[in-house]
Amino acid sequence: MRLCSALICLAFALTAQPCFATERLNVVASFSILADFAHQVGGDKVEITSLVEPDSDVHVYTPSPHDARDVGLAKLVIINGLGLEGWMPRLLQASGSKARVVTASDGITPLKRGADADPHAWQSVKNAMIYVRNIRAAFEAADPADAAAFKANAERYLAALEALDREVRADVEKIPPARRKVISTHNAFGYFADAYGIQFIAPLGVSTQTEPSARDLAEIVGQIKQAQIPAVFLENFNDDRLIGRVASETGTKVGGTLYSDALSDENGPAPTYIDMVRHNINTLTSALAP
Ligand code: ZN
Repeated sequence: MRLCSALICLAFALTAQPCFATERLNVVASFSILADFAHQVGGDKVEITSLVEPDSDVHVYTPSPHDARDVGLAKLVIINGLGLEGWMPRLLQASGSKARVVTASDGITPLKRGADADPHAWQSVKNAMIYVRNIRAAFEAADPADAAAFKANAERYLAALEALDREVRADVEKIPPARRKVISTHNAFGYFADAYGIQFIAPLGVSTQTEPSARDLAEIVGQIKQAQIPAVFLENFNDDRLIGRVASETGTKVGGTLYSDALSDENGPAPTYIDMVRHNINTLTSALAP
């Protein structure tokens, strides 16, 4: 409980009623998946803004003046870290923010891609559980009065994630081992591959910033033919033309759309993280299982 706004206090002065109101913890998340984690843990005790919107690309993002205002007002800014949000330091500086920056991926074991870490750690559900614990700890530190609510929400959500992780493992078992390999647009599923044993090959690297060369494409086409990869997949925020070309040059079927770096909007198939993981594994098993 905090002293409420001047307006309500004026009402207090006029009516002599006790003047307290709960003020929600003001949180900014860099992208939609983190915003969902924050929402699951924070419930109605937090006010959450996602900078990068659903179905949008967090790798290449140009913050707006509106974003700078949101970050300036936030008490906590939740980022993924691992080099995902290259645009964030400048935004924090431009906003004059005093917010505590919470790196949700702290404590995961990073996968290396050359010299860099692969930032897509949330694609392993066990890693997502680490994200959730970090967010809970940050909420409790920023708003100790609501610690009991954060604990209850986090425990309920972690149990659901634990069940989700088992569900994904059971679904992968339905796919014959020789068919557990796919093509997706950019290299967003390294942690998923590592955790669940489906191999992903991607024409783009771990970032969407670089265009593949003709040689990269020819290499992918060769790999698909040689490895007899059963299906290629689109991603929800990337240009479909690349995968379309790969599919037509190899005669491989398009297995559907995977959600990698962004949720869908409310009306789409992946408005929450749990929906996203479930949608992805269902899309993979429908294309790959016999
Ligand atoms: Zn990505």
